[in-house]
Amino acid sequence: MLELKHIKKSYTTGNFHQTALDDVSLKFRKNEFVAILGPSGSGKTTMLNIIGGLDRYDSGDLIINNKSTKNFKDRDWDSYRNNCIGFVFQSYNLISHLTILDNVEMGMTLSGVKSKTRRKKALEVLEKVGLKDHAHKKPNQLSGGQMQRVAIARALANDPEIILADEPTGALDSKTSVQIMELIKEIAKDKLVIMVTHNPDLANEYANRIVEMRDGKIINDSNPVTNNTTNEKYKIKKTAMNFKTALKLSFNNIKTKKGRTLITSFASSIGIIGIALILSLSNGFDIQIDKFERDSLSSMPIIISEAQMDSETINEIVNNQTEYELYPDDDVIYPLKSIEETISHTNVITQDYIDYLEKANSEYISGINYIRYTALNLFYKTTDGVEALDSQYFTSLPFSLGDKDNSYLDAHYDVLAGNMPENKEDLVLIVDTSNRVNSDLLESLGFDLEEDIHFEDLLGLEIKLAFNDSFYQDYGSYFMINTDYEAIYADESNLILKIAGILRLKENENVTTIAGGLAYTEDLMQEVLTKNANSKIGVMQKNSDYNVLTGEKIQLPEIKEQLLNLLGVNSVPVMINIYPEDFASKDFLLEYLDAYNENLDEEDKIYYTDMAVLLTDLSGGIMDAITIVLIAFSSISLIVSSIMIGIITYISVLERTKEIGVLRALGARKKDITRVFNAETVIIGFASGMIGLIIARILVFPTNAIIENLTNLANVAKLNPIHALILLLISMLLTVIGGLIPSKLASKKDPVEALRTE
Ligand code: ADP
Ligand code: MG
Repeated sequence: MLELKHIKKSYTTGNFHQTALDDVSLKFRKNEFVAILGPSGSGKTTMLNIIGGLDRYDSGDLIINNKSTKNFKDRDWDSYRNNCIGFVFQSYNLISHLTILDNVEMGMTLSGVKSKTRRKKALEVLEKVGLKDHAHKKPNQLSGGQMQRVAIARALANDPEIILADEPTGALDSKTSVQIMELIKEIAKDKLVIMVTHNPDLANEYANRIVEMRDGKIINDSNPVTNNTTNEKYKIKKTAMNFKTALKLSFNNIKTKKGRTLITSFASSIGIIGIALILSLSNGFDIQIDKFERDSLSSMPIIISEAQMDSETINEIVNNQTEYELYPDDDVIYPLKSIEETISHTNVITQDYIDYLEKANSEYISGINYIRYTALNLFYKTTDGVEALDSQYFTSLPFSLGDKDNSYLDAHYDVLAGNMPENKEDLVLIVDTSNRVNSDLLESLGFDLEEDIHFEDLLGLEIKLAFNDSFYQDYGSYFMINTDYEAIYADESNLILKIAGILRLKENENVTTIAGGLAYTEDLMQEVLTKNANSKIGVMQKNSDYNVLTGEKIQLPEIKEQLLNLLGVNSVPVMINIYPEDFASKDFLLEYLDAYNENLDEEDKIYYTDMAVLLTDLSGGIMDAITIVLIAFSSISLIVSSIMIGIITYISVLERTKEIGVLRALGARKKDITRVFNAETVIIGFASGMIGLIIARILVFPTNAIIENLTNLANVAKLNPIHALILLLISMLLTVIGGLIPSKLASKKDPVEALRTE
């Protein structure tokens, strides 16, 4: 049934040519116990390996059940080893990280035997070798003799027709050797056992045929086969390791080096941590930017100004973007528009339009700020007497008393001291984010800047506002400014204004258009306008072509307009800032403003500028760019880690060389070996991905704490589950790629040499 025909085998190392088998011809019976004797180096192992299909002959033929093996492919040899051969080695060659039971099952596992059948059969053979009770131990918990019994059980498990044993007692003491020999003899009752030994006594006592070898030749055969008639057919089942087996093998192996696997996984998880954090942040920031747009950018006003700039110019101012090339190389000069040219439209703001605005659904508006040129004549009493206060420190508020929907100030400003305006005489002091106030204003109010100024020093300060009739003295045909400030201050018909509160922009509010300084309500301005419209100087100026203060003839209608504005006779503002309630309201407001222009002549149309729209694009773009740059950086560490995985896998391949040999001897295909190591990298990739994601998830907490500290934005970083899943897959993919070359290397290992390594 098994026949070697003129087998030759030689090894070439460098220039050295070594003949291991020199024209060996040998026939074996279906059932006998053959001992191969011979001195070291005579070619015994080589012959056994060739019989077992672990090694290839150079010439000649190996006939198995009447089938020539000349045209055998790798695949056929793998199946042959798995199905027909059971190996027993001198050094046992058990897979140390698997249990005894798993070791014995491995051959069946490789040929796809069902797990139940496998277990039953494995326990059966373990019982036969007397080790059933040790089934769940690891090999290193057994003695040498016991390990050899396990090896024998493993060789028997898949029910092969041939058992090949290479010096099975070589590492055992004589007493144990005898026990093992008894066992092998028992097996040889219904199998072909070919055993290499250098102990002639054992051979003589147990074998029923002794073949002697020297220098690669058979020099003696005690019981050669003479008849030549067998009619067996070569039939065989193909082997294939499934990925689950590969995973189990690698998982068990990894369990034996937990520390290293953990450190490797941790190290290679750093890239994942980085990317996961960056994605969490950018994901969170996207959400925040959205919110920011809604909250803060909606606090940007819609501006209606007498002079409407063209959008190109506005874009150039706000976003620093221009249609022109920046830093051009050519020698061409381009005309820059004059200020007049940048004005695309003159908005003639009329009382009609103001009324239209006032009728807008107040739910959409959190405040309207009217800006006028009307002079406020203000006085302050210091210890040195009454002084005029420069009205440049005064600004108007988008705030009217009694208008309950008027929430802009409440929404965006903190009251640091006092209260919001409650009467038209109430002023509020708006300090900047560092509580600063213009030093000239403070000096005008009589403060010594060298000393500390407290809120209470300012609260309740009184300022006199003089109406035109008190401020301008009537000389019949002309007017002059009253220089008797004491008298103006004493004039009961004038208003006493009082600083009622100190306001500051809320933290994290980034945008405001209200200037710092003293701010008054629209109600105060309305009072001034009503009083001054009917003032003597007002009425006179309205009806005169001369400037009633200087006596000069007024040349242009615009000049008269300006004079009337200044005197408060003309109540139409020069600019209007409308603050939308929120992002959605703005759209309604813009629609409402657009509706005004319908059916109007071009010159009567009123155009607006939406500040929010101009700024929105900016933030998103920067965020994307930063995210891409950071991810690129982290990706480098991912690549580094996959190289590291390659190295680790390579080391693992070196460590598991013996295991590779054992698996190949048991019939594992090259592909199966690749699978074992790919499984290992998949496990490491999964572990490092999971570790990375868990650490990133944990780091999200301190990251958010830091961001909250810096910006007051809570819970910015958020890990999107889809991102997490993708990162896990990337981690696994990269580690597998990293380990691909080493695991290919592993599969190419010559099983004979792999088994030889210690
Ligand atoms: P034995 O098992 O009888 O001691 P081997 O079959 O191991 O002898 O070796 C037979 C001869 O072939 C020896 O001279 C050995 O050095 C040589 N040999 C075996 N394997 C290799 C190899 N992989 N490369 C080079 N020479 C080898
Ligand atoms: Mg040998």
